[in-house]
Amino acid sequence: MKILLPTSTAGSLPKPSWLAETKKLWSPWKLAGEELIKGKQDALRVTLQEQRQAGIDIVSDGEQTRQHFVTTFIEHLDGVDLEQRKTVKIRNRYDASVPTVVGAVSRPHSVFVEDAKFLRKQTDQPIKWALPGPMTMVDTLYDAHYKSKQELAWEFAKILNQEAKELEAIGIDIIQFDEPAFNVFIDEANDWGIDCLERAIEGLQCETAVHVCYGYGIKANTEWKKTLGAEWRQYDLLFPRLQQSNIDIISLECHGSRVPFKVLDRVRGKKIMVGAIDVATNTVETPEEVATTLRNALKYVDADKLYPCTNCGMAPLSRDLAIEKLRALNAGAEIVRRELLA
Ligand code: ZN
Repeated sequence: MKILLPTSTAGSLPKPSWLAETKKLWSPWKLAGEELIKGKQDALRVTLQEQRQAGIDIVSDGEQTRQHFVTTFIEHLDGVDLEQRKTVKIRNRYDASVPTVVGAVSRPHSVFVEDAKFLRKQTDQPIKWALPGPMTMVDTLYDAHYKSKQELAWEFAKILNQEAKELEAIGIDIIQFDEPAFNVFIDEANDWGIDCLERAIEGLQCETAVHVCYGYGIKANTEWKKTLGAEWRQYDLLFPRLQQSNIDIISLECHGSRVPFKVLDRVRGKKIMVGAIDVATNTVETPEEVATTLRNALKYVDADKLYPCTNCGMAPLSRDLAIEKLRALNAGAEIVRRELLA
């Protein structure tokens, strides 16, 4: 990345009201068939323009192409029965209705490649594309076939690798795997979750990232955060293994959280997407607040490896609020850029 402190977002951005109900997570599409395809493409044009105007350097689809960051991917796979919905507890925290794995899983065709191609045609800026991580996928379905989380995650890792290679081939610059489950099932992440992630990125030449967060700003998550104590130690336990992995970039939650900045010392050498925007508040950060978070991170991260980012996705926020937060991110990054270059 040529620019110093390139800004990006962790994932989702609010959808336009004509595509899906706003301020609601996982809200169903308002369009269908050909209209939905065209509607998603228009949403991609809009989100790209909004990111560009806010000064975001590494753009994304803002997840305009998916209803849910995990199940939309799962729904395209063979071996999954979409009609057989089961209610399971996700991340040990909240109930969700999810599809059932009924046989060997495979990917009969690419899932996001056409959407990614469309976005690629619209811009020369670097694009980051997010895929669900294998462990988080396993935690977002009911498995009636493998009966082994580890085995199923390994199969998903192989499928994700196929998808990632196609995304790389059409010119996606960074492929990010979302693994919020790592922060909850830390022992399993260290035992086999990170190995599955390594399988998912095998042979990729483009940059790879893993996003590990404390979730969207929904009630179940904010309640959970209250139980995590004065200092959140999850990253402390995960980062040593991630530091040794082949993943290039670690995306984590910082601003407004109880994550101690010194955990960044444990992933020295990696590029770090530092969450400098809280997605769980309706208050827009000031540029100076963003700058303070970035300065704190700079104590542990070399400037050329620091990527200012949001803590998580912003799909549940109002569109205007999300745009204001992106502007604040860019303005805060600009303050620190000037300091570094002075
Ligand atoms: Zn997240």
